[in-house]
Amino acid sequence: MQSPGSPGGTFETFCENLSIENFIMKNRILVIDDEKEIRSFLSKALSRIAGFRVELAESGQEALQKLEKETFDLILTDLKMPGMDGLQLITEIAKVKPETLTMMMTGHGTIDSALEAMKRGASDYLMKPLNLDELIVRIQKVLEEKQRFVRLKDFADQLEKANQELRRLDVMKSEFVSIASHELRTPLAAIKNSVQLVRSGTAGKVNENQEKFLSTAERNINRLTNILNDLLNLSKIESGRIELNFENIELKGMIELMASSLKPHADAKSIQIDVEVSGEIPGVYGDPEKINQILTNLIGNAIKFTPEKGNILITAKLLSNDQQRSYGERIAVSVKDTGIGIPPEHLDAIFEKFHQVEGSLHRSVSGTGLGLAITKGLVEAHQGKIWVESEPGKGSAFTFTLPLSKAERRDPHFRFTLDKEFRRAQEKESSLTLFLIQVIEEKGEVKEALLDRLEMKVKQCLCRKADILLRREREKILAALCEANVAGAQVIRQRIEMEIQKHPIEGQGATAVIKVGTATYPEEALSKAELFRLAKERLGGENEPEKDFGC
Ligand code: ADP
Repeated sequence: MQSPGSPGGTFETFCENLSIENFIMKNRILVIDDEKEIRSFLSKALSRIAGFRVELAESGQEALQKLEKETFDLILTDLKMPGMDGLQLITEIAKVKPETLTMMMTGHGTIDSALEAMKRGASDYLMKPLNLDELIVRIQKVLEEKQRFVRLKDFADQLEKANQELRRLDVMKSEFVSIASHELRTPLAAIKNSVQLVRSGTAGKVNENQEKFLSTAERNINRLTNILNDLLNLSKIESGRIELNFENIELKGMIELMASSLKPHADAKSIQIDVEVSGEIPGVYGDPEKINQILTNLIGNAIKFTPEKGNILITAKLLSNDQQRSYGERIAVSVKDTGIGIPPEHLDAIFEKFHQVEGSLHRSVSGTGLGLAITKGLVEAHQGKIWVESEPGKGSAFTFTLPLSKAERRDPHFRFTLDKEFRRAQEKESSLTLFLIQVIEEKGEVKEALLDRLEMKVKQCLCRKADILLRREREKILAALCEANVAGAQVIRQRIEMEIQKHPIEGQGATAVIKVGTATYPEEALSKAELFRLAKERLGGENEPEKDFGC
């Protein structure tokens, strides 16, 4: 489109010129120089030629007085002036009006002062004698940069607001899904009971035709129940309300049991399932029910998406030293099939909710597209990772990691709980204090019995139902999570200390010493890692630092 003002120019350039003009006209510049001629030269040059609005001051003091009453977009000051010099003025402005841009004019031989001015907050400097074109261009550049920064900050603020709104809507959606699924499950269970009663003949003889319809009804009721359970599970995972009951698990037995329970489904398609897990494999630490669910989902999918006469291989092994560097000391469980595979463009999204690969034979197979999202959530609740390698037409291998159940393992239960409580505090916008409590014997290591006694005493001092007390086995310390701000935490801490003073814990031959380290979200720490680091630092520095505390 032709510009209305300048023939031949585009409409866009017209707008651009217009906005540059507006931009210049809007900017106010305060020029400070003790030499009258320079002040008047700059005033004319910057206002008449460049179009800025210019104010003048002859000393640093006068400039500060003006700044108290008015706002300027840029301060252009001379270096050498009687009384307050340019450097002092720039330092003062950085303190009292940090949002104001400053530039310094210096003579030859004073480049050090110019650099010093930049260090103290000046945006740029100009060498005297001044070149008018250069002066105007450099001032425009500094102002444009500031404008860009302000615009970026505006965008960032808007994005943050939009994110907050999305988070709020997401919580509402999870709550809605959770309530709706709950409410639907009860009548569905009643319908299922009734259908089963009729099918069993209790309500009268059922003929062959009726039996056919009733069996279809029951199959669909089961399908609907599975969908509701999936939705409920996912909303629990997403809102951090999922409860995990950690224990030591013998993985080989668990995998073999799961494979044999799914064998009838595999047999129906003549698919062979093999399990290759060494008897030497260390146990894992996790929630058996949830690990079963992970295995059921992965093996179930492998059966679903593998054509007749295919193979499924389940393996579990300790990660190699190399892999441990990325994933920590963990067990990796793989479910590998010779099925239809997953096209590369779907691999990234395969763990997302409702993601299904369209247009292949398995679409005839029903599913919700929630299984892998739930599986991923459950693996991550165990502080594990899950990934897939696949080749269309050849097969897929899903691998997930689980924490070890050795005594020196990092404490996944502690991490899981801290994760959950931290998220809850963020969502509720409430405080959360982490207490780390340690009992130290005069010599030797801390005995379990001593820790047991300390645990009992601390429990007495935590009076709220929501307060959580855990043990970090590796360092033999207790960790309490309380919904308390700094003042509240102080009260709890005093209660613990008084209790220990009144009834000291006797170690071997001497009274054991108790140390407490606390940190509070959000007053003192804004992230989980910071909360843990601060509490640990306050507990005392002798502990080995928590290198891979994956918060
Ligand atoms: P559902 O199985 O209910 O569709 P999932 O979340 O378990 O949902 O899986 C999502 C999609 O990932 C499936 O629909 C399928 O397209 C693909 N998929 C999962 N497992 C396999 C597998 N072993 N082989 C091929 N495709 C798979």
